[in-house]
Amino acid sequence: MIPRFLSGDLNYKNLTAFTKHVRSCPECMEELTIRYLVGEGISRLEEGDNFDLQRGLEEKLEEADDRILLHRIMQVLIISAETLGVTAVVLIAVMVFVL
Ligand SMILES: [Zn+2]
Repeated sequence: MIPRFLSGDLNYKNLTAFTKHVRSCPECMEELTIRYLVGEGISRLEEGDNFDLQRGLEEKLEEADDRILLHRIMQVLIISAETLGVTAVVLIAVMVFVL
């Protein structure tokens, strides 16, 4: 999943599993760091960009966390909207039946 994470191709489910795993697995974190350095790092160096690899990677992981959090909030809102929708339909049905 590392190349797909770096190219931003992981879906929500895989992204959640990936960030969780990589933070608790030193081997995968090392692999991710190396691949990040090879990919991102070299292109930045070529551009003469003075950049902090460790910070860049941490920012990328934090971005992933933000995306996961946003996705969760959206899900809660969607579920709430659906629940409210069902409640509204039931209320209307009860009103129609009673009145
Ligand atoms: Zn691992």
